[in-house]
Amino acid sequence: MIVMKFGGSSVGSAEMMDKALDIAVSRLESAPVVVSSAMSKVTDSLLMMTDLAVTGDGNGAMGVVEKIIQRHLDLAESFLSGKNLAQARERIEGMRRGLLSLAKGLSLLKECSPRSSDAVVSYGELLSTTLLAARARERGLKADLADSRTFMRTDDRFMSAAPDFRETRKLTRRKLKPAPGKLVICQGFIGSTRDGVTTTLGRGGSDYSATIIGAALGAETVEIWTDVSGILTTDPRLVPEARSIPKISYGEAAELAYFGAKVVHPSSIQPAVEQGIPVFIKNTNDPAHPGTVILAETRGRGLRAIAFKKKVTLINVISTRMLNAYGFLNRIFTVFEKHKTSVDLVATSEVSVTMSVENTAYLKSIVRDLEEFSDVDIRRDKATICLVGRDVWEEQSFFVRVFQALRDIPVKLISLGASNINLSFVVMEENCDEAVRLLHREFFEKSS
Ligand code: ADP
Ligand code: ASP
Ligand code: MG
Repeated sequence: MIVMKFGGSSVGSAEMMDKALDIAVSRLESAPVVVSSAMSKVTDSLLMMTDLAVTGDGNGAMGVVEKIIQRHLDLAESFLSGKNLAQARERIEGMRRGLLSLAKGLSLLKECSPRSSDAVVSYGELLSTTLLAARARERGLKADLADSRTFMRTDDRFMSAAPDFRETRKLTRRKLKPAPGKLVICQGFIGSTRDGVTTTLGRGGSDYSATIIGAALGAETVEIWTDVSGILTTDPRLVPEARSIPKISYGEAAELAYFGAKVVHPSSIQPAVEQGIPVFIKNTNDPAHPGTVILAETRGRGLRAIAFKKKVTLINVISTRMLNAYGFLNRIFTVFEKHKTSVDLVATSEVSVTMSVENTAYLKSIVRDLEEFSDVDIRRDKATICLVGRDVWEEQSFFVRVFQALRDIPVKLISLGASNINLSFVVMEENCDEAVRLLHREFFEKSS
């Protein structure tokens, strides 16, 4: 069997849903499990609804719900008929009631816990899969619609829940019965705790759902269908000259994803690695394009791609007492551990340690704790740029080319990944786009 995941833009309209189904039909004999995201922008709108609700704007929040529901109802009208239409309408109406009561409740409380947020955003995927399955049946296909909350078992860290792989594997095998000639359709992104409370795997988490399901069922391949032809040399939204990379290793793909290439979710590589399942990244608008395949090992060396991540904060911890003192780094990292904040990059000098972080939710508490034994300096509005490739660093000229290209851009922190596949550095956010363009030009647009 295979897993095929369709992202938000790949199910963003009637036309796109039909394209996605055409692609799934072309794999029908491979017993596909189709994992779908919410329609494009729906997750963002649902989160906007909770923001309005928290301010007490109940009407605004309910207005957003009505708009989302109307979009799905309009779609249902446009491509369903008879029993399929009636059934889909009934389910969508049920979801409208559920969402409206959440909007009302949250706006009365003026509060939205991570748990409530997950309850709200889960509707995005539940709505899109209702339409996708109904359309498949309308087209005469055999389609099972499964609720991923019945098999994607997670812990209760709402908004970025961690899957319980053993339990999920057992449940997935029990609940999903893929077979040649039919489609099994389910939601990406959502799961539930042991007590049945709805959770999500974090933004962009449908890719992760797909590889978890693939690993659980021993899939031959996992295909991630999106709006670009694979993993490209950098984000094509910033550099239109970016070109697709035919093959990349799990390690390289994971680094790229972690450092900002949102084409795949960073956690989604791991379940595939463990089972050695090849992951294909393909374009729903250009299915004939080979896209990218992510494999255990790839040959060849050289720079593969440039990723970048904005909204990064630098934390500089200074202590003269650190001179010759051991245990200083340990104390620092204990603070980060306590506040569940992961550090991306680190650079140390004799009396200071500089770290970059993405998540600033607990920054205040972190600073308070660090100030007990050091001086702390916070610099916001930074960006991380990450060059990923194999063994490029062995060539002296590589560093010269990197910093020659960036000669007019101040670099705040440099880190050569221990994995030998990445060189990362931090620049001012306002310089990020320019730096990426310059590096891309240097390494991918010259004929050398
Ligand atoms: P989906 O909704 O299908 O999951 P996403 O929007 O999450 O799609 O991811 C696809 C987007 O990732 C692309 O449209 C592209 O702008 C962005 N992206 C960032 N870096 C890269 C890269 N290196 N290669 C390809 N796409 C990238
Ligand atoms: N719909 C979710 C999001 O927008 C999950 C996903 O698309 O992967 O984050
Ligand atoms: Mg995505």
